[in-house]
Amino acid sequence: MRLILLGPPGSGKGTQAQRLVQRYGIVQLSTGELLRAAVAAQTPVGLRAKDIMAAGGLVPDEIVIGIISDRIDQPDAAKGFILDGFPRTVPQAAALDELLKKKHLKLDAVIELRVNESALLERVETRAAEMRARGEEVRVDDTPEVLTRRLASYRSLTEPLIHYYSERRKLLTVDGMMTIEHVTREINRILAAIGAAKPKAARKSAPAKRAATGAGTASRSASKKMPRKTKKGATAARMAAKPASRAANRPAKAREAGTVKKVTKKVTKKRAKQ
Ligand code: AMP
Repeated sequence: MRLILLGPPGSGKGTQAQRLVQRYGIVQLSTGELLRAAVAAQTPVGLRAKDIMAAGGLVPDEIVIGIISDRIDQPDAAKGFILDGFPRTVPQAAALDELLKKKHLKLDAVIELRVNESALLERVETRAAEMRARGEEVRVDDTPEVLTRRLASYRSLTEPLIHYYSERRKLLTVDGMMTIEHVTREINRILAAIGAAKPKAARKSAPAKRAATGAGTASRSASKKMPRKTKKGATAARMAAKPASRAANRPAKAREAGTVKKVTKKVTKKRAKQ
């Protein structure tokens, strides 16, 4: 399974990625983590990235694309991976498409964690306080000033990816304001629905159709609860919900076998009878 987690800083991407790692035995590839490690180890990449990161700016594309490409080639990523913090711009997304194509790998889904921006500052402050309490070093970019800059960068550079992946029918939107547990459950449910993963309880017998209907609902309800503020954003919200539900309503086996129309007809007939 190959996924992208999309969401602003403090939206819970890291937490959810760790849970996906445990459940599906795939690896988390976080460009932020990889870059922080490079900074700590004072590698040439780390030295280039250090000040940019501290100021909340974006590290040049060629650096992050190189890091991700090398990391995907590691044996532990063969079973699958979750990209966390990458891609962050449309050019990075296009580079990722190219890179995956060259490596003959397919992206299963992009999960957007949609959150209320006003809650993010509080979340990041809590994260810093918790790290301090555990005696861990607090991230230099977890300050209100830098967070404001990172959020602005997310809005202008990363949010367009919602449209990018929605157009490619990869986007699944989850309400990231729910509890951690609830968000995890929702993610697992929609992954099962699109056929990327089967929920534990349904591994043997549940038909794809039933699970799929749930995902459509999850995505739509997330969009309803979390409307985007701007007009442009509102369009993005609808687009985000649409492909997800369309994809989810397609039985997984049919999508794989390329027999979508046939099976959809059957499903429609069945629904008409109900
Ligand atoms: P994160 O841990 O994802 O919040 O990333 C921390 C910092 O690392 C960001 O504020 C950027 O400076 C840098 N960074 C992480 N991922 C990327 C990326 N895909 N492109 C550019 N810079 C990145």
